[in-house]
Amino acid sequence: MRIKLDRTVCDGFGTCAEHAPELFSMDEWGYPSLVGAGEVTDLQEAPARRALLDCPAHAIVELSVRQPMAAGGEAGVARTASAAREARSAPDPADPGEGRGSGAPW
Ligand code: SF4
Repeated sequence: MRIKLDRTVCDGFGTCAEHAPELFSMDEWGYPSLVGAGEVTDLQEAPARRALLDCPAHAIVELSVRQPMAAGGEAGVARTASAAREARSAPDPADPGEGRGSGAPW
């Protein structure tokens, strides 16, 4: 699990540091910083999720997890909407009829 803290929306109540003091350090004004780069170990995951869910400002987010490579798929990259559109509109080289078009708009 990896988390990110958006300090621009943080309200500074410190709930995150109460739940996961090993992941959040508080500055002298009561605002948190992530300790490290946001990597959360398995042992830290429960308090990290509690901090994430209890943050009143939704300032803590879980970064997406890369997926292992599927057979014939792309490794670890979530497909975006534009990439999906491109994949659908590309001619299929295995289909000899593909691309001849009937002139119909569908
Ligand atoms: S719980 Fe959320 S709003 Fe409160 S200090 Fe932590 S990040 Fe900021």
